[in-house]
Amino acid sequence: MLKLFCPNMYVSSIYSIHPEDLVNKNIKGIIIDLDNTLVPWDEKEPNENLMDWFESIFDKGIKFCMVSNNKEHRVKLFADSLSIPYIFDAVKPRKKAFLRGIKILGTNPSNTAVIGDQILTDILGGNRMGAFTILVKPMSSQEFWWTRLMRKIEKNIISILIKKGLLEKPE
Ligand SMILES: [Mg+2]
Repeated sequence: MLKLFCPNMYVSSIYSIHPEDLVNKNIKGIIIDLDNTLVPWDEKEPNENLMDWFESIFDKGIKFCMVSNNKEHRVKLFADSLSIPYIFDAVKPRKKAFLRGIKILGTNPSNTAVIGDQILTDILGGNRMGAFTILVKPMSSQEFWWTRLMRKIEKNIISILIKKGLLEKPE
């Protein structure tokens, strides 16, 4: 049960995820969250660093699909500027959007990574599907009240996972 909440990798930011790590794990496609994973939730467009990070992974032949619980106008604008497909109103951790994501990517769960900043949506959903899950620290602490509440629960889960030796603190 606890394992469903445990990411396969925990890093301080997406910039600690190197293209080679993904290639070594035979990852062919990535389902990626938007808010607080790629940018703080109020930033509308990708910055240059982020573009470069995507480019370095595209170069390895790895594809992306953005899967977000946010609204279409927010998700579309962002995904379009990175030229990647997207799913909005995803209702993560429900399986449906994750399954649609791998269909779009043309991958299967075992060669797909799910990257996100929330255990209760991104990691839980990715683990339920059997994907390789990567948790990143949230980029901004400014959030909606619901997310702030979820963070408290997630912090507790993280400390339990670390205490049990299931998870390592990122550098
Ligand atoms: Mg997020």
